[in-house]
Amino acid sequence: MRKAVMAVIFLGIAFLIIKTNFNITNESEQFPSSGKVYREICGTIKRGETLFDIFKKYSLDIKELFYLKEASANIHKLRELYPGRPYKIIIDENNKINSFTYWINEDSILNINRNESGFCAEKKNVEYERRLEHIGGTIKDNLISSVGEGKENLMLALQLSDIFAWDIDFTTDLRNGDTFKIVVEGYYLDGEFKKYGEILSTEFFNNGVTFYAYRFEYDGRTDYYDTEGRSLRKAFLKAPLSFRRISSGFTGKRFHPILKIYRPHQGLDYAAPSGAPVSSVGDGTVTFAGYKGQYGKLVVIKHPNNYKTYYGHLSKIEKGITKGIKITQGQIIGYVGTTGLSTGPHLHYEMRINNNPVNPLVVKLTRGTSIPKTLMAGFRDFKNEMDARLALITPPVFAFAGENKNSRLQ
Ligand SMILES: [Zn+2]
Repeated sequence: MRKAVMAVIFLGIAFLIIKTNFNITNESEQFPSSGKVYREICGTIKRGETLFDIFKKYSLDIKELFYLKEASANIHKLRELYPGRPYKIIIDENNKINSFTYWINEDSILNINRNESGFCAEKKNVEYERRLEHIGGTIKDNLISSVGEGKENLMLALQLSDIFAWDIDFTTDLRNGDTFKIVVEGYYLDGEFKKYGEILSTEFFNNGVTFYAYRFEYDGRTDYYDTEGRSLRKAFLKAPLSFRRISSGFTGKRFHPILKIYRPHQGLDYAAPSGAPVSSVGDGTVTFAGYKGQYGKLVVIKHPNNYKTYYGHLSKIEKGITKGIKITQGQIIGYVGTTGLSTGPHLHYEMRINNNPVNPLVVKLTRGTSIPKTLMAGFRDFKNEMDARLALITPPVFAFAGENKNSRLQ
């Protein structure tokens, strides 16, 4: 199967790859420091391994282990070491511990240093180097495989689907040949890519229409805005089956959610796996939650402006979802099933205005609040910079261009 190509292009930012002794290897080495000979032990915690095991392995003074534990007791308990986390121990010429470093998680480090009176522990934030990544791609089969393999690319695909949740249903709307461009923060340690941060701006060409999103913050609130500075939010999500929820709910095997949508009657039918979480498309109040004839297990939600939405054939209604309960957009209300008059697992979704059925896919909805006029100059500056960056991602490499999947052009 051909994979879509992901090209990561760094703008003309020169950078050095600095190799340090922090490499994750189980080696100890000699190196001189301020005239004394120190020894360094680097490694990663193995499954079931304790600090005691490590001390025994390297013939370190067990007494010092207790002092280390004591020093860090109020900061991070050394009993709680997780497999896969790196550590580093520096030992002086008398086989005494000079310092102990442990990566608590992606963002913080425990540092225990020897001073005149004993050990002193502190927790520090990992100082990532932030770069901007420029990613372009073409949809081939589905969003996740098009963005690329691996956990970080999955997170990026989910972030993208969240940004456009009001405009694009990533489970049914994508077409082969759709293209996307993303400007996203990339976090690096010692010149090595570690993780993506926030998407700053993105352009998605879907089925003939181009959508834009720019991340902008004011009054302490961050949101994504269109080219005119209007929030991408709308009263209703594009679909009641969230790409994120469906993708993360089926992690057992790699699941690439592509759902089928049918319109056999006054509503939409989503062929979806049984048990897939169903979300309310908008804020509202539950007016019905229970069993109702051909609908089977059904939830009905009343929204502002005389809108109502219906979610039928559910296998289960979410706990706590009862008549009169207030619901927020995106909240889980039940799970896909085949109750009532139904031949297989699917979600029956219906929207009504003043009790008249309408096609939710063509209902015109206005965007959310606009950026205040006084801040528009700042927004335009940011948008111009992002547009210049997006323009550099050209053209997105098409899937049939070659087999060089996930090529990173550095
Ligand atoms: Zn139906």
